Amino acid sequence: MSSTVKIPVPTLNKEISVSTGLFINNEFVPSVDSAEVIQCFNPATEQVIASVVAGSSKDIDVAVAAARLAFKTTWGKNVTGWERSRLMNKLADLIERDKQELAELETLNNGKPVAVARDFDIGDSIQCLRYYAGWADKITGQTIEVDNKSKMAFTRHEPIGVCGQIIPWNYPINMWAWKVAPALAVGCTIVMKPSEITPLTALKLSELVVEAGFPPGVINTVPSLGSVGGAALAAHNDVDKIAFTGSTITGRKIMEAAAKSNLKKVSLELGGKSPQLIFESADLQQAAAWAALGICYNTGQDCTAGSRIYVQDSVYDKFIDVLVSTVKETVIGDGFDNNTGGGPLISKAQFDRVWGYIDAGKAEGAKVVLGGERRNTKGYFVDPTIFTDVDSSMKIVKEEIFGPVLSIGRFKTEEEAVALANNTTYGLGAGLHSTDASQCMRVSGLLEAGTVWVNQYNILSNNVPFGGKKQSGIGRELGSYALEEYTSVKAVHWNIGEKLQWPLSF
Ligand code: NAD
Ligand code: MN
Repeated sequence: MSSTVKIPVPTLNKEISVSTGLFINNEFVPSVDSAEVIQCFNPATEQVIASVVAGSSKDIDVAVAAARLAFKTTWGKNVTGWERSRLMNKLADLIERDKQELAELETLNNGKPVAVARDFDIGDSIQCLRYYAGWADKITGQTIEVDNKSKMAFTRHEPIGVCGQIIPWNYPINMWAWKVAPALAVGCTIVMKPSEITPLTALKLSELVVEAGFPPGVINTVPSLGSVGGAALAAHNDVDKIAFTGSTITGRKIMEAAAKSNLKKVSLELGGKSPQLIFESADLQQAAAWAALGICYNTGQDCTAGSRIYVQDSVYDKFIDVLVSTVKETVIGDGFDNNTGGGPLISKAQFDRVWGYIDAGKAEGAKVVLGGERRNTKGYFVDPTIFTDVDSSMKIVKEEIFGPVLSIGRFKTEEEAVALANNTTYGLGAGLHSTDASQCMRVSGLLEAGTVWVNQYNILSNNVPFGGKKQSGIGRELGSYALEEYTSVKAVHWNIGEKLQWPLSF
């Protein structure tokens, strides 16, 4: 039906085959009307590695119809929780079986180190599927006493229906798992739109969906441009919910499209400009290590990137020294090289965008204490760059950069530190480093963020909710909280004895 591409993995002397069509009803099919393709690049080499179908809005209609039919027949309320659980565990086992190949494909298209893709992104994705497989047969409502005599009520947590899921390019497999797992656990069906920059692993995972034995139409995947397939999903009148991760600007468009169409439920995981506070009592070596992880992990292409650090005056100089020497150890390179700690940026557009910020930081008078120099090699590599002497009016302090660019400011008092940290329109993550337990409790309460890390940073867990305050988003992923995003609560009022006298007499 549709075609397959064989992608060479240069350093490993092998090929990975990927179906390049749309995945609908458990089959790879061509577009109904689009001759457009999406070119996929290797960001380490700047070479095109594959072209896949660019789905149209008519393809979205076909995928939504498939998901609706599955919801009404084989999935939704037609399948038991333990059957959903069994299939999800099977899928997790297959991903575990194929994790090396999936990791190499992720590295080819995204650039991140193979070991990071395999052991962190994919390792966490397997765990995420198993975590939600555990929930699938434990979805329960409440029984509610109304008057203890003639009436009672109960609630049912029903699957919300057909879900459109729109994911970004920074964690292609991991975001797939975070979206798919809770939706499947409660009985929803899915139309997945991967990022047009990184559609390959979602297509590869689709093969495993068939092998695991999911009924046709439960999970459909439509590679497409955001402005085409993403917009069509967000505006679709037969989609019950959109789950999105990406930029705040796109999140705004999705809410608007939902409002103008069928008022579908929307959850948004958006950007951030997350602060970390280094107090004078902190273990400075440890704080520097966590800070390095915060800005260098995934080469800073992380919604929770700890991109603003504020250090207490008394330890400011010492901390900068420790931090610079810690961050200097980061090796940015080809993801197939075992020494690489972080890959290239994802694309030419992101590369130019990040350099735009570094140039702006210099122009606005911030001081470069590490990095800030271009390499003259192929690939979208940017070395970690640290600015000091910043003030809150600078672009590098206000805007999300999505690269390994850190700005460091200073504070005298705890009150000032909290004010600086909260001086942003975002509210995704925040970190604080201190050995004063009262201070940790006080400050973690005052920070305006969906996640606060105390004496660590960037570590997430499948059983702990994740999401944003302020303009970093709406709703929560992970943990039991994510189940609420995919369920609709039905209240059933049951009369077991009341006789109604009509008309009412008072
Ligand atoms: P984006 O928000 O445009 O893309 C994310 C997803 O949304 C992709 O699947 C894309 O196809 C889709 N999309 C785009 N326009 C759409 C529309 N009108 N309707 C529906 N879906 C649409 O992000 P980007 O352009 O790839 O990156 C730009 C910036 O966004 C980055 O520099 C970064 O600041 C931020 N970003 C954040 C995250 C995150 O994890 N929070 C991820 C990626 C990018
Ligand atoms: Mn965009």
